Amino acid sequence: MGWLTGRVVLVTGSSRGIGRAVVLEAARRGARGVVVNYVSRRDAAEKVAEEARRIGADAVVVGGDVSRWEDAERLVKAAVERWGRLDVVVNNAGILRPKLFEEMAPGDWEREMAVNFFGALNVAKAALPHLTKTRGVIVNIASVLGLRPEPWASHYSASKAALIAWSIAAAKELAEKGVRVIAVAPGGVDTDMAREWGDLDWVEEEIPLKRLARPEEVARLVMDAVENPYVTGDVLTISGGLL
Ligand code: NAP
Repeated sequence: MGWLTGRVVLVTGSSRGIGRAVVLEAARRGARGVVVNYVSRRDAAEKVAEEARRIGADAVVVGGDVSRWEDAERLVKAAVERWGRLDVVVNNAGILRPKLFEEMAPGDWEREMAVNFFGALNVAKAALPHLTKTRGVIVNIASVLGLRPEPWASHYSASKAALIAWSIAAAKELAEKGVRVIAVAPGGVDTDMAREWGDLDWVEEEIPLKRLARPEEVARLVMDAVENPYVTGDVLTISGGLL
């Protein structure tokens, strides 16, 4: 029995992609309850919850936009009302709308920051009183682009760099309360987001392993880090050599 047995896990943006894989990995490792969150695709989220239940976890589906404080509070409340506790928050919800800076309007960078950075802080803040009770863990899904910024994604890269900086500082603050904070920074992962980035020629050209990561491979790293009590304030890359 690992650390996750009997725990309650909240994963933002878990109707598809990496978030979905993280929910299912938590269920496989014995989590008692999982909160599946979506912003627009309720049907997809319901399917993920059904898959988690088949594995053996209880699951609730909660719609909400993490960039809104009230929605973040509602997500956390859903876990605490159902299971009386919250052990792990995975801030996975994120958006990438590729654009050159020259073509951006303020709303473009404000939205990337609102979801990718402020969204994570909203959920972390709402969850903190509960995580201090359970000596829980916050995992922030950042990106290699937060460490190695790229054109067409200056706003996204900056939002992920901010998330990495916040994770390291928060880990230092929260260690004395027994709460760990971890950043996981994937390279290219085979999800809708990677496909929406455009043609995937760069995968062959730039990734030494010549393929995208599978969401399940990222999910395993996330849960390995959650279960390892010495991992905090750490930035774990999983990039197939891309970094
Ligand atoms: P994805 O396939 O585009 O899925 C995004 C998920 O986030 C969906 O579940 C979506 O919900 C949800 N979401 C979007 N905006 C939200 C909001 N405001 N509030 C709540 N949920 C929201 O993305 P992914 O590739 O799995 O990415 C997951 C995370 O990994 C992101 O933070 C991303 O930046 C990061 N990442 C991805 C890659 C990659 O190559 N894919 C690489 C590095 C890092 P709906 O289904 O309802 O729309």
